[in-house]
Amino acid sequence: MQNLPLNVLDNGPIVPKKPPVDPASLVHRDLLSGPFWQRIPAYASVDEATFLDHNWQAKNTITKASKLLDALQGLVSPEFYRDVEEGFTKAPMSVRVSPYLLSLIDWSAPYEDPLRIQFIPAASRLIPNHPKLTLDSLHEQEDAPVPGLTHRYADKALFLPLDTCPVYCRFCTRSYAVGVDTEEVEKVSLKANEARWKQAFAYIASRPELEDIVISGGDAYQLRAQQLEEIGNALLDMPNVRRMRFASKGPAVMPMKLITDDAWFDALSRIVERGRKLHKEVVLHTHFNHPNEITEITKRAMDKLMERGITVRNQTVLQRGVNDSPETMTLLVKRLGHVNVHPYYVYLHDLVHGVEDLRTSLDTALFIEKHVRGSTAGFNTPMFVVDAPGGGGKRDAHSYEYYNRETGISVYTAPSVKQGQYFLYFDPLHQLSTVIQRRWQDPVDAERMVTAALENARAYLR
Ligand SMILES: *Cc1c(COP(=O)(O)O)cnc(C)c1O
Ligand code: SF4
Repeated sequence: MQNLPLNVLDNGPIVPKKPPVDPASLVHRDLLSGPFWQRIPAYASVDEATFLDHNWQAKNTITKASKLLDALQGLVSPEFYRDVEEGFTKAPMSVRVSPYLLSLIDWSAPYEDPLRIQFIPAASRLIPNHPKLTLDSLHEQEDAPVPGLTHRYADKALFLPLDTCPVYCRFCTRSYAVGVDTEEVEKVSLKANEARWKQAFAYIASRPELEDIVISGGDAYQLRAQQLEEIGNALLDMPNVRRMRFASKGPAVMPMKLITDDAWFDALSRIVERGRKLHKEVVLHTHFNHPNEITEITKRAMDKLMERGITVRNQTVLQRGVNDSPETMTLLVKRLGHVNVHPYYVYLHDLVHGVEDLRTSLDTALFIEKHVRGSTAGFNTPMFVVDAPGGGGKRDAHSYEYYNRETGISVYTAPSVKQGQYFLYFDPLHQLSTVIQRRWQDPVDAERMVTAALENARAYLR
């Protein structure tokens, strides 16, 4: 082929079969750059080197409503401030917002801002929990042979080495443990404790079927470099362990740590490298929820991981007002691809205490998935999953045995996880008709709807 004269291939002018693209469809490549943080009065004179310093970010992370106000002097209305102050007293999660996040929020429209919605509660937007909601809806503690180690699936386990994160998300599934006690919730203690870790390691080593360990939290970002390496090496030393993932919200909320915390970055690199020599996969899992979280700083951090050959995958939580539209989700997926992060899962929001305003219906998830699929490479297309309440594990959202869009009840089974059991997911009441909403308020009627859904699922399965 290479020796053919050019004119043999010349079939005349190219006739486009597809119309030219709208430049707006390429905005996933436009990343926010420049000193965007200087829009916040408190950071107006902070230079780039300071803003990129992970110690500065950690030290200036806001953990009190009053401090939040200090940082926002003059940016928000007194009404919004009071709304947030009250929101904090009602929230099950403690407050923790990094300067990076704070400066990505559009404070001229705080009620609509997708980042504000995720991290800073406004009391006026809260709505009552679904009647079927319990704390620790995933029953992680029930499937825990030792505290902070959940062994639910056949060959993988979830290890929670500590209970703090670089930020606290309102919607955290682990609000039963993560963060300090709040007025609403007294937490289960999962401190970074070497004795507890040793117990977890002993259990993992004693179970030959365990090949895959998720190191989550809390958050691996909060581990000291030496602890990260200690955990990584202890697991790599076990012949049964073949795959490991360090899970961290960090890249999404404090990407500069990957640029300036050389000790932590090098510790991670060494574990990945050692794993590679042992032919074991060590990767980083992270948690971006909105395209605005991905900036030029993120790209620099992800480029550095790419250069070290470290695979990064992403898990997103579908949230109302944040990313529950085909446009936003597609932009997120394409922007993740642009910075070499593989979109892995999109979770339907778990049934978590105090954040009913953030949930969407299964129907919404299926609608969005349909639009996302086909917009980019298949391997960069996330699977939409329901983490079945009651400990059924993650199920492909489409795999329900039965779904009643009217009552909002979906029924799943998980034969490889818990044979013979049924798992129910409940759409938020605000997505249902007022008649059905009223039926949910009556416990007897609510049970009737649940029983009917289960009967339908059983009939279908037969
Ligand atoms: C999510 C999760 C895992 C990992 O599951 P994958 O589907 O492989 O990502 C393992 N254990 C528990 C308890 C989990 O919740
Ligand atoms: S980073 Fe993860 S574990 Fe930590 S608060 Fe957010 S969702 Fe929860």
